[in-house]
Amino acid sequence: MKSNNCIKQEIKERALAIGFDKVGCAPARLPAEDIHLKEWLAQNYHGEMHWLNRDPSRRTNMSNHLDSANTVICCALNYYQGPPVPLDPGQGVISSYAQGTDYHQVLDTKLRKLASFIEDRYEVPTRIYVDTGPVLEKPYSVAAGLGWLGKHSNLISRDGSSWFFLGEILVPLELSADIPENDHCGTCTRCIEVCPTQAIVEPYVVDSRLCISYLTIELNDFIPRELRASIGNRIYGCDDCQDVCPWNRFAKKSAEAAFFAREPLASMDLVAMLKITHKEFLAATHKSAIRRARYPGFLRNVAIALGNSKDRTVVPALLETLNHKEPLVRGHVAWALGELRDSRAIEPLISRLQIEIHKQVRNELEWARQALLEDR
Ligand code: SF4
Repeated sequence: MKSNNCIKQEIKERALAIGFDKVGCAPARLPAEDIHLKEWLAQNYHGEMHWLNRDPSRRTNMSNHLDSANTVICCALNYYQGPPVPLDPGQGVISSYAQGTDYHQVLDTKLRKLASFIEDRYEVPTRIYVDTGPVLEKPYSVAAGLGWLGKHSNLISRDGSSWFFLGEILVPLELSADIPENDHCGTCTRCIEVCPTQAIVEPYVVDSRLCISYLTIELNDFIPRELRASIGNRIYGCDDCQDVCPWNRFAKKSAEAAFFAREPLASMDLVAMLKITHKEFLAATHKSAIRRARYPGFLRNVAIALGNSKDRTVVPALLETLNHKEPLVRGHVAWALGELRDSRAIEPLISRLQIEIHKQVRNELEWARQALLEDR
């Protein structure tokens, strides 16, 4: 009979052979994290992500997910693609994690291979999670010794940056937990200072309601007007707090070809994106994480980027979209027209107001019309 240390070593070796960059073991329960999560939820920092508030203790107690789970095997996969590529002013920025094939699929395939190995070799059941399950994956990764949580609340590793996807395998095996890494952020506050929306409300605490990643991906509603200018030309997520992290100078490029930027979105300009049909959006985002923003949300983000562009040559494209069937799109297109202060938009805005019945869209139309009239 193999010792548990021997089993742990075999599992780690197999995880690295499958292609994971880091692997470690954490205990199945993290009671201290339960308290942190509940404090964060009590502040409503989760915004509209109501699923996080459903039985939060489930996220820190894995024995609720797999009978007799004793260990969480945490795996990390590097997705770093190099420094951000400079874009033309008319292009939108997509967070680097979403530029390639959907990481859920890539991680799921690798985790399944590792889970099959464990099930066959040690005759135990397993359960895998990639982001979508009720697992507080960053604290588990810390407890598994993969790194520490930076002040931006992402996992940072001394030897490999913060550009990691995380996945977990629950097992009943009693494998010793790895030693958590010390916090090496020190006095650095670059991530806090660079955040365009001041979403890092205190070190290690992010108010999702202000974070551009949440606003452009998770929020299915109108983005608060006062935050739109800070979004700039980011149309899906935001990497700013990671881009400035000094530990990321040690980042090595990912060997995973699936994470390379994919066409057609990688080279499309914002005007072409605004004109994309629902069918084209589904084709362009096949096996891409960008689909999570959904079609109306994606066009909303593009409209905001165009409104922030200060480029009045985009006004005709915005006017063509002012009657879009999705209120979310119409409303943000109206805002963009108001931001660009081009008098060609006044009559179309007034015409739209005469037939518009959606309350929030009317509000945006009124605001845009007013902005244009004041600018005369
Ligand atoms: Fe701020 Fe962007 Fe980091 Fe969110 S992802 S905390 S908006 S810098």
